[in-house]
Amino acid sequence: MSFQNPVFIPGPTNMPESLRRAVDMPTLDHRSSLFAEMLHPARAGVKQVLKSLDAEVFLFPSTGTGGWEIALTNTLSPGDTVLAARNGMFSHRWIDMCQRHGLNVEIVETEWGQRIPAGRFEEILTADRTHRIRAVLATHNETATGVKSDIAAVRGAMDAAGHPALLFVDGVSSIASMDFRMDEWGVDIAVTGSQKGFMLPAGLAIVGFSPRAMAAVDTARLPRTFFDIRDMGRSYAANGYPYTPAVGLLNGLRQSCDMLLGEGLDNVFARHRRIADGVRAAVKAWGLELCAASPDLYSDSVSAIRTPDGFNATSIVTHAADTYGVAFGVGLGEVAGKVFRIGHLGMLTDVLALSGIATAEMCMADLGLDIRLGSGVAAAQEVYRASAPALKDAA
Ligand SMILES: *Cc1c(COP(=O)(O)O)cnc(C)c1O
Repeated sequence: MSFQNPVFIPGPTNMPESLRRAVDMPTLDHRSSLFAEMLHPARAGVKQVLKSLDAEVFLFPSTGTGGWEIALTNTLSPGDTVLAARNGMFSHRWIDMCQRHGLNVEIVETEWGQRIPAGRFEEILTADRTHRIRAVLATHNETATGVKSDIAAVRGAMDAAGHPALLFVDGVSSIASMDFRMDEWGVDIAVTGSQKGFMLPAGLAIVGFSPRAMAAVDTARLPRTFFDIRDMGRSYAANGYPYTPAVGLLNGLRQSCDMLLGEGLDNVFARHRRIADGVRAAVKAWGLELCAASPDLYSDSVSAIRTPDGFNATSIVTHAADTYGVAFGVGLGEVAGKVFRIGHLGMLTDVLALSGIATAEMCMADLGLDIRLGSGVAAAQEVYRASAPALKDAA
């Protein structure tokens, strides 16, 4: 690896210099007013990024995976039933966590490369007349396959069935890089981490709880201590933490929210769309296909690219690291060896994206794939030239 090169993994993402500086802080007393001046703006900023007026935001020293556990343990009881689709490695891992917590998971097996089947959810929820299902779990953006699901459609299915289950959404690789509307979509718990759209080092689980999710906390019987949001909430009211907070990360999060909201969320999403369009144009020029089955499923934060049958896609990732000092993502689970992934979320620019596309091209040519050097780069260049926004204050 070379520290000089950007990474093209779908998280952790590249960090803007200003955020690297923001997390590098001298020690301060987390019971001082200085800490409160970081904590409360960070929570308020996240709430805006989630597009919620009434969510309670909790920031735990953890990661996105811890965020899944915060959602489950604070609202559910042993033996409760939850509904989830398995269409990639991340939805699979969340399901596995539910099972290890003694929850009963109604699993809708879904082809990897497809999105959550909202119609099937509606049938299952309609048939559940006794309301055995307590929560619906949805992975907004399957980072393993580069597939975006339609959360509004999942909410629509729940409403059409007249079902009162809570809706938990894993937005780890979508929040702060793709459109996410907690209130409008009726999301009860939104989960993310610090190292993807927020462009920070890993180390925070970031969760938003709706009033309905908050109301479920007192009756939930799954064991929790470190992750109990009641302790966290009581401490916030006293401007503190129930234990030692990750102060630098919270300062970084405050600044990251300022940065994202300053750019404008719609502009952030449009930038991710443009960068992704360039990558997708390159994939097409290479004559390769995405794992995502159709354009309406394409993720703007990660592309999983299928390589020809009989070729080990992981060799591209190994070769890129060993030869050019560049990181791409390997295929996970069912698509291991069949896809490699280009992560394009966070602070990427056109120029950085072009360097990743050029590197992927060199690797594929080196490994004997029938790829003409420059073909993907040229296709992406056309996308970026045609859509380049005027740079006002480039940071
Ligand atoms: C990265 C990721 C996770 C896991 O997050 P960690 O911070 O690594 O624990 C969960 N879900 C999705 C969709 C992800 O992309």
